[in-house]
Amino acid sequence: MREIDVARITESVRKLCIEANTDLGEDVLHAFDRAMAGEESPLGLEILKELRENARIAREEKVAMCQDTGVAVVFVELGQEVLLAGGSLQEAIFEGVRLGYRDGYLRKSMCHPFTRVNTGDNVPAIIHTEIVPGEKVKITVAPKGGGSENMSRVTMLAPAEGVDGIKRFVVQRVRESGSNPCPPIIIGVGIGGNFEQSALLAKKSLLRPLGSRNPDPELEKLESEILTDVNKLGIGPQGLGGRTTSLAVHILMMPCHIASLPLAVNIQCHAQRHKEETL
Ligand code: SF4
Repeated sequence: MREIDVARITESVRKLCIEANTDLGEDVLHAFDRAMAGEESPLGLEILKELRENARIAREEKVAMCQDTGVAVVFVELGQEVLLAGGSLQEAIFEGVRLGYRDGYLRKSMCHPFTRVNTGDNVPAIIHTEIVPGEKVKITVAPKGGGSENMSRVTMLAPAEGVDGIKRFVVQRVRESGSNPCPPIIIGVGIGGNFEQSALLAKKSLLRPLGSRNPDPELEKLESEILTDVNKLGIGPQGLGGRTTSLAVHILMMPCHIASLPLAVNIQCHAQRHKEETL
């Protein structure tokens, strides 16, 4: 067994919260560049340039790229040969989020659902833990803004609706979302599993680098078809018209019950934030 003190996890989460909110990935910046090359709307093009400039300022001045610094979603791949010492994993992550949002001057967004009273420290974080082989811990912090999360949906299609039903639902979801999720968006799609698993698949699909290929040729084709249909909607950057409604569609799929076809759409705004570290 390899022993890892949970204080290292706290420090990692603290750092990743700040980095994720201030340093947009190169894959997203390249996706902006590709979108600019194909954007016919002058206003849409101008907005894409502004988003790129916004990302540059955030990175250089180490300030949040958006005022909505999101729910802290934390994915943990915990090696089964790791012994965590010094405290609980959950509390170590929560403390990392507290410190990261304090030290990075990031807005705290978590509140009581009824009273709307802010918890004051952006805790609780949403933690997804997976036990994997090995003696390492991989931590990914993916802050998720409210505007895009609000437009996300889970549905249970009838199996007979098939691939056409999936395409219809995703495109309709984007159409109804309009400008609310701050386009250009990335569309995370989870197919199969069950009710909750489809939502997790959709969220995890967003961690794939933009511009990378889906290893499954069938899903790769479906991603391309949905992207083409979505970008015909004319919503455009920030909803002001143009070709670039979405930068990418990412799909993860797994088997499901014979009576079900679970489908989740997790919409991600252009602030496509996630950073990872392996301890
Ligand atoms: S949806 Fe994204 S870009 Fe829009 S306000 Fe929320 S975090 Fe910011």
